Amino acid sequence: MKQKITLLAITCYVLAFTGLYAQRKRSNKQIEKLKTEVAAIVENNKKQSQVMVDKIFSFSELGFQEVESSKYLTGILSENGFEIEKSISGIPTAWFATWSNGEGPTIALGSDVDCIPKASQYPGVAYHKPIVEGAPGHGEGHNSGIPMNISSALAVKKIMERENIGGTLLVWPGIAEELVAAKAWYVRDGRFDDIDMCIFTHVGNNLGVSYGPTRGTGLISVEYSFDGEAAHSAGSPWRGKSALDAAELMNIAWNYKREHLHPLKRSHSIFTDAGDQPNVVPSKAAIWFYFRDIKYEGIMEMYAMANDMAKGAALMTGTTMTSKVLGTAWPRYYNKVIAETMYLNIKEVGLPEWSDADQQLAKAVQTEVNSEKTEGLPVKLDELGLPVLEPISGGSDDIGDISWKVPTVTLRYPSNIPGLQGHHWSNAIAMATPIAHKGVVAGAKVEAMTIIDFLLKPDLMQGAWDYFNNEQQKETKYQPMISESDMPPIYLNKDKQDQFRSELEKYYYDETKYDTYLEQLGVEYPTLKN
Ligand SMILES: [Zn+2]
Repeated sequence: MKQKITLLAITCYVLAFTGLYAQRKRSNKQIEKLKTEVAAIVENNKKQSQVMVDKIFSFSELGFQEVESSKYLTGILSENGFEIEKSISGIPTAWFATWSNGEGPTIALGSDVDCIPKASQYPGVAYHKPIVEGAPGHGEGHNSGIPMNISSALAVKKIMERENIGGTLLVWPGIAEELVAAKAWYVRDGRFDDIDMCIFTHVGNNLGVSYGPTRGTGLISVEYSFDGEAAHSAGSPWRGKSALDAAELMNIAWNYKREHLHPLKRSHSIFTDAGDQPNVVPSKAAIWFYFRDIKYEGIMEMYAMANDMAKGAALMTGTTMTSKVLGTAWPRYYNKVIAETMYLNIKEVGLPEWSDADQQLAKAVQTEVNSEKTEGLPVKLDELGLPVLEPISGGSDDIGDISWKVPTVTLRYPSNIPGLQGHHWSNAIAMATPIAHKGVVAGAKVEAMTIIDFLLKPDLMQGAWDYFNNEQQKETKYQPMISESDMPPIYLNKDKQDQFRSELEKYYYDETKYDTYLEQLGVEYPTLKN
């Protein structure tokens, strides 16, 4: 970061004398007028954002398999004058789309795009009804974020061109977020070295933003593989060394450990290889863990304990062990200046107007999954989120790594139903309905207005960096959990996607024939249980 400060200082010095960076000075009144205009452009383009949201929903692609989604989104950006760079950090589905209007800040707009295994679900139907049984589906709502970013970026671009505002917009995808397996690699490979700020967007059920340390954890994702000796399980079992025994013993050891972990820590595992058939002693087996904690040090402590257990399990079974880091996410920390600026725009935009049909669907889904929340969609804005000083455990997102590289916030927008369990078919129900579409339009307006603020008010950008350098990094310094040689596990999910792709293809949204995806699927909105 020192490098960045020096660079920034030199840049400021040089620019102060050349006057290159100077945007034409505009009054607050003029800036407010441009913000009203940019929001109006987003509103006028809502048909396009609906099509994008529905389209990505229909592709239903898992992490690292976002082939159709990436092709479609980069196609739109390219048509609109963005330059596309593909295969970022060696990930075939990752891309960076850049459009520049000359000297000025570079603002990165990120969001995730992958979906959830086995979460296939008809949108607008208030009970479990898979489109393709067992197939992946958008049970996390990641089909909406990049469409939202594109919507705001295209609106801002229009204003920048017309008003001759300098600056660069970068739209980028969080590939394989569910595996937290891309963003730390982007950071490691220097992809965020020259970025001035990042607005990340994530589906939520209110329009909100926060700053400081946030609720949730960071994590390291590790697969332990054991290698043994095969034998006939009945004919000569004494000649076998079971790799599966080793994986099971490691799992048992960790389950005992769990009792003695602090409640803020979370850990979970699945077997990724548990042998082939009972009459062959498994010569290979593997178990995959996520180790989560609210602090980097805590994550690495768990990782070290697990490594010892894996070694112990290998010793006990006479097998050998190797391990591989499959993903990492730093605990997140958001920028105060960006959040406060954004929150003013959130108050300006407000929540969408929900129809009776939207509310009926939301309440029916809440009832269906026994949610504690029963009041449907929100009608009151969330407060600005303050730093979480009493840590609260929970999920992770690898935007954490980027939040320690450049001033970052996550804008949450109201495209889903409150009170659902997450990573579940019920979280897909709203995601190709008017609820998702309206939430995306509201979020895109906030995002576009915030970009205009930061392009035209250099003091804000300076303030964001002051907070980042002096407050955020006062006690904590980022250090990557991946090494130079760790590669993103781009082979993950291939089999799962291939198994369903041809079946899912039949349901890809065709916007040339149907107004909405609901119409294509013949879903009456909302469809409730009798
Ligand atoms: Zn997510």
